[in-house]
Amino acid sequence: MLESIGHLINGEIHSEEEQAQAVYNPATGEPCAQVCMASEQTVAMAISAAKQAYPAWRNTPPAVRAQVMYRFKQLLEDNQDTICELVSREHGKVLSDAKGELARGIENVEFACGIPELLKGEHSRNVGRDIDAWSELQPLGVVAGITPFNFPAMVPLWMWPSAVMCGNTFVLKPSERDPSCVLYIAQLAEQAGLPKGVLNVVNGGADAVNQLIDDDTIQAISFVGSTPIAETIYQRASEKGKRCQALGGAKNHAVIMPDADIDNVTSALMGAAYGSCGQRCMAISVAVAIGDKVADALVDKLKHQVEALKVGPGSDDTNEMGPLITAAQKDKVTNYVTQAVEQGAELIVDGRNLVVLGYESGFFFGGTLFDKVTPAMDIYQQEVFGPVLVVVRVNSLEEAVSLINQHEYGNGTCIFTRDGEASRYFSDQVMVGMVGINVPLPVPVSYHSFGGWKRSLFGDLHAYGPDSVRFYTRRKAISQRWPTGEAKDGTLFSFPSL
Ligand code: NAD
Repeated sequence: MLESIGHLINGEIHSEEEQAQAVYNPATGEPCAQVCMASEQTVAMAISAAKQAYPAWRNTPPAVRAQVMYRFKQLLEDNQDTICELVSREHGKVLSDAKGELARGIENVEFACGIPELLKGEHSRNVGRDIDAWSELQPLGVVAGITPFNFPAMVPLWMWPSAVMCGNTFVLKPSERDPSCVLYIAQLAEQAGLPKGVLNVVNGGADAVNQLIDDDTIQAISFVGSTPIAETIYQRASEKGKRCQALGGAKNHAVIMPDADIDNVTSALMGAAYGSCGQRCMAISVAVAIGDKVADALVDKLKHQVEALKVGPGSDDTNEMGPLITAAQKDKVTNYVTQAVEQGAELIVDGRNLVVLGYESGFFFGGTLFDKVTPAMDIYQQEVFGPVLVVVRVNSLEEAVSLINQHEYGNGTCIFTRDGEASRYFSDQVMVGMVGINVPLPVPVSYHSFGGWKRSLFGDLHAYGPDSVRFYTRRKAISQRWPTGEAKDGTLFSFPSL
């Protein structure tokens, strides 16, 4: 009998086993648990629990909320091994990578502890005679978050700690593919003293998401996932007049200048392209080499390292790369590779036939490297979300920037160079939200916000950091006068001025 993963509503675990779906261990290819898929009634219960918890939580002093977050951070650290094992079991990533993910999530909790500082608002005395004015940041009410499979611990921590520190209550709908760690973490939050109903977790798919968007109680939606779904969710939420930030997919380019140190670039690209089996929204999937000499040297070095990649189950930390998330994703990546060969790309390392001994049914895919890919090819246009790096050859930095700017995605990018002028031109001109200069994965730390441009983000504000406080609050401006004695001005029909 498989373990059943339920929902957390008002502090209680609810299981509706009649509507369960298998959760796989991608390394074995076997189901390891089953997740309950929320019915309409379950989602409504979660929303109602959040609504009931809201008035008391809204009026809880921010410093008291922060104490909960401090305790929560400690519990995350104390239980990191359990969390990372759950992440690795259902996602497949190697344990050291799961630890890195959790550490970045904990950074967001640390940021949330300091949010009272950002809730202070602004005050002006004597804006008119005897009139004072201030603006304050009020919570929105009940808000919802929908998260992807690839960072099951971290991405939820981008959202709800900031939201609840701003005084909101939350309904979280994690990915149905690796939901265990989210439920476990939510229970740690309650152990830390988060009152029942402030954070509720419902498992499910598209129906649960649509219900959250359509329900009038929900005031704002944060979404992270693929671009087609991000766009649909943003449109649906906007039609309902709701605030929405929807972060989508990516195609991240690394530009390699002729003056770059090719050994360093190769090491950086190996981690950035193949880490987490390429299933990161900031993964580098395109290496743009300036000139044939750079491209030849790069492909030669990469080839040996890609062939030597150690692929196997995430539970063995000597492995460098785990499996893909599902059999369907493995088929999808296989098809992209086959199609690229047909379209004329030069296949340097082929990961399609990899077999991991003892894990023959796992969703493993070997590191794959292409050279001489052109912008017209599907493997260049599409987000593959697998361990596939393509090399595109161009003749100048200007051509590289123009190539990147024409791509529909604009999440992350980086340049490898020793030339300050080139890097300055690149970071200024490139139409991408997060830029690295000799930094392959420029994921901002928690006190800066995270977000792409173009079709990598729908909405105005980025995720976590200072933008999250703007997203999860609304500003109110208050003008105040305490008249003493007779009104001196009498009735005013014109707009008052000094
Ligand atoms: P996904 O879009 O398939 O799923 C994301 C969430 O949406 C899940 O909770 C899922 O249950 C829900 N969902 C699925 N179908 C839906 C539908 N039709 N209507 C409403 N909701 C639906 O994404 P994924 O495969 O879990 O994650 C990988 C994708 O997420 C990649 O495209 C990756 O680039 C992107 N991603 C982006 C960022 C970022 O910050 N920009 C971060 C992580 C992942």
